[in-house]
Amino acid sequence: MPMPLIDGKQFAQEGLLQVAQHCAQAALHAPQLIGKTEIRMQIVAGQELEDYFRVQDAANKLGARFSGETYKTAYQMGEPPVLLLIGADVTPIVQAPCRAACPAGIDVPRYIRLIGDGRYEEAVAVVRERVPLPSICAYVCHAPCEAKCRRGTLRDRPIAIEALKRFAVDHSRSWEPKGPRAKETGKRVAVIGSGPAGLTAAYYLRKVFGHGVTVFEALAEAGGMMRVGIPQYRLPREILDREIAAIEALGVEIKLNAKQDSVETLLEQGYDAVFVAVGAHRDVRLQVPGEDLPGVIECLSFLREVSLGKKGKVGPRVAVIGGGNAAMDAARTALRLGAKEVSILYRRTRAEMPAYADNVEQALREGVTIQFQFAVSKISRNKPGLKVECLRTECGPIGAYGKSHLKTI
Ligand SMILES: Cc1cc2nc3c(=O)[nH]c(=O)nc-3n(C[C@H](O)[C@H](O)[C@H](O)COP(=O)(O)OP(=O)(O)OC[C@H]3O[C@@H](n4cnc5c(N)ncnc54)[C@H](O)[C@@H]3O)c2cc1C
Ligand code: SF4
Repeated sequence: MPMPLIDGKQFAQEGLLQVAQHCAQAALHAPQLIGKTEIRMQIVAGQELEDYFRVQDAANKLGARFSGETYKTAYQMGEPPVLLLIGADVTPIVQAPCRAACPAGIDVPRYIRLIGDGRYEEAVAVVRERVPLPSICAYVCHAPCEAKCRRGTLRDRPIAIEALKRFAVDHSRSWEPKGPRAKETGKRVAVIGSGPAGLTAAYYLRKVFGHGVTVFEALAEAGGMMRVGIPQYRLPREILDREIAAIEALGVEIKLNAKQDSVETLLEQGYDAVFVAVGAHRDVRLQVPGEDLPGVIECLSFLREVSLGKKGKVGPRVAVIGGGNAAMDAARTALRLGAKEVSILYRRTRAEMPAYADNVEQALREGVTIQFQFAVSKISRNKPGLKVECLRTECGPIGAYGKSHLKTI
């Protein structure tokens, strides 16, 4: 292969083709290094990723920048580069594992690089390409990208993606979505529900497609579960307000106290399309005797009332039933409302809890106790409070929904 020139000089067409072929091979060894990048050139020495890290470390120690100098260092170490990755010119062959793990498909490597360069607004703009709520994402996303970071499996620890994104949004001065907007189409879309799904649809329908958008929200405040589910201590309301304001600033209209019951009615009113994003606000019933007794409160109703500032009283001893985020948040909220003792009763093991690990960890740290493998069988009056009866459970083989079959003992 003719050796391409380095450091910004033109590569021969033939050289580029060969480089692309090498990239395809390299994908087997270092898929996370391949992709559309803003770095003009990266050089990998040796055949294995470990060699690459070794050379890069040596280059860093010599104070060399990661570019042509790495190449020279590699030569000095007697390890001439055998793979050249020219990110900007190579069509992505393999998606970085972090990006593949992100439910929204955010280009993680690109925004991490921008953060590294101190270009925080641009990093946030990369998140906005896929999610118009970057700060909320930075505050409450449980970062599945980080768990997939190849550095964690191949070297030492994963890149701290969650913390980096939080840093970028906290240091990004501008909240106005910038960049080009699509030309007005004259079409109107009604969105029912102002949770993350509705707001995301509204943002892109307006910005990317140029449609007029009206969001109809049943409650007195916008945001869906971000407003009435996730407690304030995890997601400060000023962050939520700012992100919603940025969407409104694009020209999205949000109508509050505007419950909609019929798609047809909206179409008759002249909307060209309707996007239904009403979420899932009904609690799961326990199906045990006593669940309708006064003093038994459904988790989501409890969190909604507290979020909207309506009610906020709990007794000194609170039992929370369930193992999801709603249960963790209800337990932690009860502590903040003055409960002296809060116990979570969960029928499976910790490994099967659907709540995010961090949320569980925080609950335990704050003093919540969790009783595993306890299934509530009956609730009854026991003046002045309630009596909760439970059966111990045994977890059997994993069933079709990824949950273990339960047997009560
Ligand atoms: C307690 C709790 C904690 C959570 N923690 C996290 C977390 O830490 N990280 C995370 O990523 N996810 C978390 N989630 C999940 C996340 O909040 C939801 O996945 C997300 O909000 C779903 O978005 P959505 O837009 O589909 O629905 P929602 O957020 O539920 O929004 C739907 C909206 O539609 C409105 N609506 C319903 N019916 C009508 C109607 N007929 N007319 C007009 N409006 C209507 C509702 O009032 C609501 O505002 C949590 C959820 C809960 C309940
Ligand atoms: S964060 Fe990890 S997985 Fe993601 S691009 Fe960087 S090294 Fe690869």
